[in-house]
Amino acid sequence: MTTRDGRSAAVDDARSALVAFGRRLVSEGLAIGTAGNLSVRVDDLIAITPSSLAYELLEPDDICVMSLDGRQVDGRAALSSEWPLHSSIYEATDAGAVVHTHSPEVVALSATCEALPAIHYAIVALGGPVPVVGYTRFGSRQLANNAVEVLATHRAAILQNHGAVTYGATLVQAFERALLLEWLAHVYRLSLAYGTARILTTEELDDVAAEAARRRYGGLSEGQAPR
Ligand SMILES: [Zn+2]
Repeated sequence: MTTRDGRSAAVDDARSALVAFGRRLVSEGLAIGTAGNLSVRVDDLIAITPSSLAYELLEPDDICVMSLDGRQVDGRAALSSEWPLHSSIYEATDAGAVVHTHSPEVVALSATCEALPAIHYAIVALGGPVPVVGYTRFGSRQLANNAVEVLATHRAAILQNHGAVTYGATLVQAFERALLLEWLAHVYRLSLAYGTARILTTEELDDVAAEAARRRYGGLSEGQAPR
């Protein structure tokens, strides 16, 4: 726990970071317009991008600050409709930040596949092949529950006909995982153009996870065998 002043300073930092990464969400093609949302946890508060405001127009004062149960305590804009998704993930995991995207490769895959298979060993950083959770309406408690079920074993979940959600210890890590997920979906789709894709086995992924743990290799330093 930080002191009250320390907490306000941390909230201010989170707001600036969310403005910067909100712009990256659009510039890196992970969402268009006002879609998607990002949040950072600061002690018992969540700083989260607001509803219906274009990312390029966002200012730190627009970023909403809410309690874990969805009570808005600061921010001049309206709370994102997906706040239950974010707060549920903070309740259920040790996440420091959450990124929710509508990235095209992942959305296309979500409509046709039950999971993103292990097309490349980097998927170990996400906890292994990433399941697609069944469609439920945006902003619903059921959507949050479905995502949390996957995030008990993974750091990313794909939401059918909707998008994806990733989490990390920091906003940088959560965002990198969102980019990795989109890249993996893109690579998988490319592979299908050549024929039947070879998918890495559980044993091969376990071996990658073990080696990554030994080397403490960037984003692959999780040390947890994927399933
Ligand atoms: Zn969404």
